[in-house]
Amino acid sequence: MRCIYADNAATTRMSDAAVKAMLPFLQDNFGNASSLYSIGQRAQEALSSAREAIAAQIGAEPNEIYFTSCGSEADNQAILSAAAAGARKGKKHIISTAFEHHAVLHTLKKLEKEGFEIELLPVGEKGNVTAEQVKNAIREDTCLVTAMYANNEIGSVLPIAEIGKVCREKGVTFHTDAVQAAGHLPIDVKTQNIDMLSMSAHKFHGPKGIGALYVKRGVFLQPLIEGGAQERGKRAGTENVGAAVAMATALKEACDHMQENAEKVSALRDKLIAGLEKIPHGALNGDRFSRLPGNVSFCFEGVEGESLLLLLDDKGISASSGSACTSGSLDPSHVLLAIGRPHEVAHGSLRLTLCEENTEEDVDYMLKVIPEIIGYLRGMSPLWKDKVSGKKPFVI
Ligand SMILES: *Cc1c(COP(=O)(O)O)cnc(C)c1O
Repeated sequence: MRCIYADNAATTRMSDAAVKAMLPFLQDNFGNASSLYSIGQRAQEALSSAREAIAAQIGAEPNEIYFTSCGSEADNQAILSAAAAGARKGKKHIISTAFEHHAVLHTLKKLEKEGFEIELLPVGEKGNVTAEQVKNAIREDTCLVTAMYANNEIGSVLPIAEIGKVCREKGVTFHTDAVQAAGHLPIDVKTQNIDMLSMSAHKFHGPKGIGALYVKRGVFLQPLIEGGAQERGKRAGTENVGAAVAMATALKEACDHMQENAEKVSALRDKLIAGLEKIPHGALNGDRFSRLPGNVSFCFEGVEGESLLLLLDDKGISASSGSACTSGSLDPSHVLLAIGRPHEVAHGSLRLTLCEENTEEDVDYMLKVIPEIIGYLRGMSPLWKDKVSGKKPFVI
């Protein structure tokens, strides 16, 4: 049986170069980067080089990069810091979007309970949010705009440079969750006017358990974790040197091959989309053009997403329905609801996220298997029978 991994938005396989870069720091160079003896200093030097390499890929300075344990931590720290800075000036209005990752949305929920006013901009039916919307929402008391660079479920890409420009003009701090963008789309924090940016290594073939937060010099940052003076006092905890080095290696590799990977992966994506569009009563989620190179997201009427995933797994295909974080819960994806999919249809979602390791044969195999499984599931669905016989209307 074929084995196809098509869930690269959930996590990726580590690249050979990243594994190779990480290994020496687990045994030979295991020193604590804060120790003064040689093996500690060697670790410190490796950490500095990793910081420089990551900064260089996004147009930042090395001392503007803070290592974290993951993308979620970076999002939490950025948002809570901007909120604390705002509160001190009596500014407690925060603007975000309705389809952010839960690392952002749940942090905002917490702030709302503490008296902040959270305004979530509505998302268009193609998954778009405009700089104009942001501009119109900014008020005197706005302390933060946080908008994702690219959406993890439907792949839509936001006009980050335009949003950054609006925020800079109005003097409002701008954070972007770029976890899906880093290594996949070009990032330049200076020309895009980004004040804070989150990324996570395991989304670009680096290791799990490490992320980074870029914070522009002069922008307020407070620690989430108290303790030692690591990361210039902003993130205590003994540095994960091997993971930082592997993250830098993976990011450089991804950025060096960004153009060719994007061309290859988007060609596979477009073939997959074209094939899946032939299935009746299904619809592509998000915009056809403004989307991540590897993202394919559909809703199929008369199908239960979870059942679809299990049957795909039986055929060797790893896919996702909505985000991994919500699987196991019966709530439909907030992202699909945000783009206006009715509950019933949102339950029948399928996300396939490809990377440069996928092949045309993978796509052909998926295009053979997926329509068969959908046909099978619909054949067993009483709701589908009612629709076919005209007792109930089709939604898409
Ligand atoms: C995966 C993801 C996160 C969380 O990153 P972790 O490193 O898994 O904590 C945050 N935002 C987006 C858009 C993501 O895709």
